[in-house]
Amino acid sequence: MNDTSEHPIGLSPATLAVTAGRPPRAQGAPVNPPIVLSSTYVSQGVPGPGELVYTRSGTETWRPFEEALGQLEGSARPALLFGSGMAAVAAALSLVPTGGTVVVPRHAYQVSLGLLDELEARGALSVTRVDIADTEAVVGALSGAAMLWVETPTNPMLEVADLPVLVAAAHGVGALVAVDNTFATPLGQRPLTLGADVVVHSVTKYLAGHSDVVLGAALADDETIHARLLAHRTVHGAIAGPFEAWLALRGLRTLALRVERSQATAAELARRLADHPDVAEVRHPSLPGDPGHRRAARLMEGFGSILCVRPTGGPAVADAVVGAVRLWVPATSLGGVESSLERRRRYSTESPTVPDDLLRLSVGIEDVEDLWSDLDAALRVATNR
Ligand code: PLP
Repeated sequence: MNDTSEHPIGLSPATLAVTAGRPPRAQGAPVNPPIVLSSTYVSQGVPGPGELVYTRSGTETWRPFEEALGQLEGSARPALLFGSGMAAVAAALSLVPTGGTVVVPRHAYQVSLGLLDELEARGALSVTRVDIADTEAVVGALSGAAMLWVETPTNPMLEVADLPVLVAAAHGVGALVAVDNTFATPLGQRPLTLGADVVVHSVTKYLAGHSDVVLGAALADDETIHARLLAHRTVHGAIAGPFEAWLALRGLRTLALRVERSQATAAELARRLADHPDVAEVRHPSLPGDPGHRRAARLMEGFGSILCVRPTGGPAVADAVVGAVRLWVPATSLGGVESSLERRRRYSTESPTVPDDLLRLSVGIEDVEDLWSDLDAALRVATNR
């Protein structure tokens, strides 16, 4: 299934998303990998290296996606597909030695923070929360740490980390660096190529891209770390179903088109919202005045497709905006072809330092004018203008 050797090296990520993980070219061969529905494989004697034996340990239906994502992230090894993003996060956190300290962004995906809290409560590790955009504070917190956990941009506050500096500082004190690359996608940044030890994804989001699967992935260049992540997946059993894996690869084929379109639209909407009379604050790294702008411009390709808006009038108005949209979908999650929005503090588990009127908008691939009309109308209705 590995067709990389057929390709000239140096293909751009947009091309790799289309070409990687295809069956070998042969007369009469399918262009797409087949879905194999089998929990077990014919096998006797001592299995050879890489031999398929039992689906929880590995199956050919995962491999095309794993190879494609590995190449997109610039990894020396294929990705490891998991049953959800959180399963991949849990596998990455299992690399922390018992009692070790993990330095984490104070604003990060709330369930990742919840898992860290749970692990801390049972003494597995301890957590130090930092403002990941404050490089000096992060470096100061790293002394004695076992792992630096990074989201950049963060969910939902869109803070941007100085990843190369943080990777060097963490390695300087012997800490591993794990990066949740869900928001940026490998088209926006490739943390392994900057020296990060582990990358995780909620494949559910941009990589699969159609809000029809829940999947995750973890990547590591280092052979030992890769083997530990694989062993974790095998013994904890949070594996992907074959059809979901196939759908994720199908979604991945259009990643570049979707991301290109949605981030251009996000930047345009952010620009217009910044001048909207019913908007108190807009966050999107594309805006020249955004705290993350200069760093994102230097470190990322593109500014991402998530933006945050605080309508004037507080959380009740924010809820009214969510209730008034007709085209945008009121829903959690992000990274689908459809645009969606939610007020993050509707969850009691969201960090209290996230403003309670903050709407997180995931911009999809619809027409920008249709999205703008709907949002503008909803803001007017919600603020009684
Ligand atoms: N990481 C980030 C940044 C996320 O936004 C999410 C989900 O929203 C996850 C991880 C968890 O992924 P999943 O829902 O696929 O388990």
